Amino acid sequence: MWYDPNEDSYTFIDLLKEENIKNKIIIDLGTSTGVLSEVLKGNLVIGIDLNRKALEEQQRLRENPNLIRGDLLKSVNQRSIDIIIFNPPYVVDSLDPIIGGGPLGRIVIDKFIKEIEVNIFYLLVIKANRPEEVVKGIEEKGYKTKIMKIRRILGETIIIIKGEKEVK
Ligand code: SAM
Repeated sequence: MWYDPNEDSYTFIDLLKEENIKNKIIIDLGTSTGVLSEVLKGNLVIGIDLNRKALEEQQRLRENPNLIRGDLLKSVNQRSIDIIIFNPPYVVDSLDPIIGGGPLGRIVIDKFIKEIEVNIFYLLVIKANRPEEVVKGIEEKGYKTKIMKIRRILGETIIIIKGEKEVK
């Protein structure tokens, strides 16, 4: 099994289209079948996911994707990357490796924030993840943050945060 695109993916896609990013080296973390990578044409995109089946499916669907099977950013030298995008597993009280983030839905999100070093990233969370605490954690790492999208769908609120390293 793998994650099929849902309202979170479509919200992310809308933002990426608006951002109109070109000529960058981008990591699509938790890429699954690569729906977010698809809208980043004109960039060099590398998809990372833990889920082997999802990567095999993406290989079948997309032409020559750059894929790494890995846990978060452990296999990446972030200094060579311009932007990371991440629609993480955020579901509260679930430990499903594809969608679950444990209590508060934050297990993978918090690990990601610990690892992040890249200059610019986009991270999706939901209201139940306590976005104000997520933002605080990001800012404590020296990033300025901006809420790029808030979308209320089926009783949940999807939020996409942009983090950008403060220039000193
Ligand atoms: N990017 C797709 C989208 O937007 O539709 C899928 C997003 S889905 C909510 C989360 C993805 O993160 C899943 O494909 C899951 O396998 C992957 N994932 C979960 N934990 C991970 C980890 N530690 N490292 C890399 N990928 C992970």
